[in-house]
Amino acid sequence: MASGKVDVAGRRTGMKHPKRGVPEGLWRRCPGCRQTIFRKEAERRLGVCPECDYHWYVSANDRIAQVLDDGTFEEWDADLEPTDPLEFTDQRKYADRLAAEQKRTGLRDAALAGTGMIRARRVAFGVTDSAFIMGSMGSVVGERLTRLIERATDQSLPLIIVSGSGGGARMHEGILSLMQMAKVSAALGRYDTAGGLFISVLTNPTMGGVAASFASLGDLVFAEPRALIGFAGPRTIKATMRIELPEGFQTSEFLLEHGYIDRIVRRHDLKSEIARVIDYSGL
Ligand SMILES: [Zn+2]
Repeated sequence: MASGKVDVAGRRTGMKHPKRGVPEGLWRRCPGCRQTIFRKEAERRLGVCPECDYHWYVSANDRIAQVLDDGTFEEWDADLEPTDPLEFTDQRKYADRLAAEQKRTGLRDAALAGTGMIRARRVAFGVTDSAFIMGSMGSVVGERLTRLIERATDQSLPLIIVSGSGGGARMHEGILSLMQMAKVSAALGRYDTAGGLFISVLTNPTMGGVAASFASLGDLVFAEPRALIGFAGPRTIKATMRIELPEGFQTSEFLLEHGYIDRIVRRHDLKSEIARVIDYSGL
């Protein structure tokens, strides 16, 4: 493949050394097996590598299309907008970062929530998107999910939240971000008392304050294969604990073996598995 492939625009895609951060094109490199995969084929397979079963990132909107019955999703609280109460600045102003992320992703913040059908069963459905400030939970994500849980409680709906949050709590919002962990967890406590069924689906990555709150509180916790799931990153843990960490200790497979998650569910099976659990629970 020395000449490289030519994409639809006639450019050399340079498959030997694909540019990082430029995923668009006819082909994509699989991080799992390093093979070059025809993009359309990967998309047809819901973003799963046909060679090695690696599960690529999918956006919140794509996830809704994959899991919910066609055209049944109705978004709740779409009008909630993030603000910048601390006037926070790191490499750039948080307000500017928000505006740029909104433009790039087409989302107002890192979570979508609403209701829809899964194989004709009505559910409350939330999803976080790691493309928006690493899917981190600020006030809007926390509030959207809390209202989702409260509506699921009022309407006795099964609740499904798919997490793709590498960022945990959104520290640009300081304590207002951290308190979302308690707020969402308390809402889940009330939902549980009311007899609800919460299926938490962990995808790559689910870390920090998201892993340490709602994502770990499912009656059932599913995870996609080979997802990175944990609290602090391995380097931080190693520096703090000064011990050698087991190989792959933050993967779905390791966490299943150690009882932290209940089941690894391949993306193709997710919709059917959720429907089956809802039927089994009798909700
Ligand atoms: Zn692969």
